[in-house]
Order: sequence, then C-alpha cells, then structure tokens
Amino acid sequence: MNLENNIALVTGAGQGIGKTIALTLAQYGADVVIADINEATVSTVAHEVEAFGRRALPFVLDVVNLAACEEAIKKTIDTFGKLDILVNNAGITRDMVLLRMKEEQWDQVIAVNLKGTFNCTKAAIRYMFRNKYGRIINIASVTGAMGNPGQANYAASKAAIMGFTKAVAREYAHCGITVNAVAPGFIKTAMTDAIPDKEREAMIAMIPAQKLGMPEDVAHLVCFLASDLAAYITGQVIHVNGGLYM
Ligand code: NAD
Repeated sequence: MNLENNIALVTGAGQGIGKTIALTLAQYGADVVIADINEATVSTVAHEVEAFGRRALPFVLDVVNLAACEEAIKKTIDTFGKLDILVNNAGITRDMVLLRMKEEQWDQVIAVNLKGTFNCTKAAIRYMFRNKYGRIINIASVTGAMGNPGQANYAASKAAIMGFTKAVAREYAHCGITVNAVAPGFIKTAMTDAIPDKEREAMIAMIPAQKLGMPEDVAHLVCFLASDLAAYITGQVIHVNGGLYM
C-alpha cells in the first residue's frame, strides 16, 4: 500500500481511532489535515504526522458547522493543492434509554455523527467531482447494524451513515470517487474506557475473538480503502469487530 502524494483530511483526528487513522495514513505516505473540535489536540497530532516526514495541517473544526467544513476543505486545497482522501470519523455518544433520552441528546448525536458526515462530504465532493478522483471513508459502527440498548440515537446515526454511504457511492462511482463505510465493533479508546468494567467484561464475552479491537485494526482497513488497491470497492460497509456481528 502506498499513499505517497495523497492528501487526506481526517475529522475527529485529535484522539482515539481518528488519531490512529491519521498517523497510519502518514506512515503509508499521505500528508494529513488533522481536523478536530478539540483545539488542544490538533497541533500535537500534526507534529506526530510530521515526525513521519509528512506534511500536516492542524485545523480546529466543528463538523456540525457546514461553513466551517467548507473552510477546512478550502484551506486544504489552498495549502496542499488537492484533496484525495476524506475520513469522516468525528463521532460522539450521549447514551440513555429511550424513555429517559432528552431531545438534546438525540439532536447532538445526529448533528455530529450524521450531519457532520453530510457536511464534510458535501464540501469535499465538489472538489473531488471536478478532479475526477476521491476516496471517502465514513466511520459507522456495529451498533448501526445490531442496535444496542441505551444507544437509539447513536445506532440511528450510524445506520443512517451506512445508507448515506451507499447513496453517495452510487451518485459518484462514475467519476472516480469511491465511498465506503467502516463499521468498528468495540475498539479500545476513550469511548470504551468510559464503559464500567462489568459492562465491558460482558461485552468482551460476546465477541468471538474474546478481546476488544485496537484502533490500528480500523486504521489499516481505512488506509486500504483509501489506496489504489481498493479502486473497485465502493458502497460497501466493512465490519471490523472480531466476529461480534456476522
Ligand atoms: P473518541 O471520543 O476517542 O474521539 C472522537 C474525536 O472526535 C475526539 O477527538 C473529539 O474531539 C472529536 N469530535 C467530537 N465532536 C466533534 C465535532 N463536532 N467536530 C469535530 N470533531 C469532533 O472516539 P473514538 O472511539 O476514537 O471514535 C471515533 C469514531 O469511531 C466515532 O465515529 C465512533 O462513533 C466510531 N466508533 C468507535 C467505536 C469504539 O469502540 N471506540 C466503535 C464503533 C465506532
């Protein structure tokens, strides 16, 4: 896999899976825009990308804001001359059983996970369409396929990302743009560290591989989908979950 001369933008790249995706893209040769709402993390990750001898651009971005997403894409083109790879990774949870879920918890999750994916994709595709090339990878979740109690908002957002992926893949397959979704199972990050120990152990017991995945397990698949090796793969949802969902 060689991603040299590729320019990638990763949302939510300040920590967790997004950070590992950004660093793995850099390891394979890409220059990377580190876009995250958390100002404290973007410069640190950008320095880590540069340590691999690649160019990096830290960008403080709230994916909920369409104008800000357009600005991030514009800054990418102004700085690097093009955009080849977009990874829509920014995501949040606001877990609660439906009876007690507040409207705000529903709206926040849909806004970041789903509208954020729409915003960045819409901003990027205009450029990719003109350039007749693009690789868009959306980070969904096994929860979007299986459901999970306490996560009606999150599951709905991730299932919607799968439908969005397929529709956009169909629209732009004829002009060199592939759009795929990667659906991680339970991956060891701050998101799963926040789950109480007992609940985490019960989750692991359900996974045929009997362990959590690592961010690298997701990142290598993202890099493959971003590469020329995956040119004929589009509109797919690929699961990385140790067998949790088949
Ligand atoms: P995380 O909480 O560790 O990191 C999420 C990143 O997104 C953070 O850096 C955060 O600042 C950023 N972010 C949040 N809101 C944002 C916004 N409005 N605009 C821009 N950036 C924003 O989470 P993670 O575990 O690394 O998850 C990354 C992605 O993978 C998410 O989409 C998540 O739903 C998905 N996922 C995670 C798991 C898991 O087990 N960890 C499983 C399936 C799917």
